[in-house]
Amino acid sequence: MLVDSHCHLDRAYLPDGPGDVLARAEAAGVGAFVCIGVGRDLGAARAAVELADARANVFATVGVHPHDAATTSDADVDELSRLAKHPRVVAVGEVGLDFHYDHSPRDVQERTFRRMIALAREIRKPLVIHTRSAPGPTLAILEEENARDVGGIIHCFSEDRPFAERALSIDFDLSFSGILTFKNAEPIRDAARYAPASRILIETDSPFLAPVPLRGKKCEPAYIVHTARYLAEIRGATSEAIAAQTTANVVRRLLLASAPPAAQDKREVFFG
Ligand SMILES: [Zn+2]
Ligand SMILES: [Zn+2]
Repeated sequence: MLVDSHCHLDRAYLPDGPGDVLARAEAAGVGAFVCIGVGRDLGAARAAVELADARANVFATVGVHPHDAATTSDADVDELSRLAKHPRVVAVGEVGLDFHYDHSPRDVQERTFRRMIALAREIRKPLVIHTRSAPGPTLAILEEENARDVGGIIHCFSEDRPFAERALSIDFDLSFSGILTFKNAEPIRDAARYAPASRILIETDSPFLAPVPLRGKKCEPAYIVHTARYLAEIRGATSEAIAAQTTANVVRRLLLASAPPAAQDKREVFFG
């Protein structure tokens, strides 16, 4: 069984709802999904929590994406903080810095990022980190704000081995998306070979970044099988071993870490 540890399933991307894409993914062997609840308003966060409430194999995250830092009000952050405590919410995210698109001013992105780390520490849930064209500032803020107290995931890992080493050392795992399969991704493959087996996850980040051989299509969680196969290949492992390892890792990192002790047994049983 595979788990898609990062996908976007809200109406901004799936106007007809997630039913069909989830069914196709399940048929392809994807047994569980971490649905990322971020967007221009709180609609995606609310929808992620609702979906996770309705389906036993969907878990939610909520947070403020760096793109949306400038348009998110204090009242929004208050409501997000309430939503984040919901038992089906397994992480605060995706949060971080995006200095490639700069959709929000950098100082606002940084302030929001620090606030989201504080929220995660307050409610004792892990973080899902988005970082683009801002490796130094991202790591500096994670270190300054003691993000290691909760740990988490560097999602859609697209940095290099030195970044990976520093992230791993402050208890952040590396999650690999379809980018891993792209031609010019050698530094990412280098990090993917280097990371300990217990610290790697896989994701689609759908609807973005479909892996080779489907590159260019609208990505969906079923496509994670290609990323899993590719990761197995470059690590010299079997697909079965990669599936078992990445599933165990996401269960430990997100599902168990975020659950109150009484709920942990149930989640363990769910993943058999
Ligand atoms: Zn992202
Ligand atoms: Zn994402």
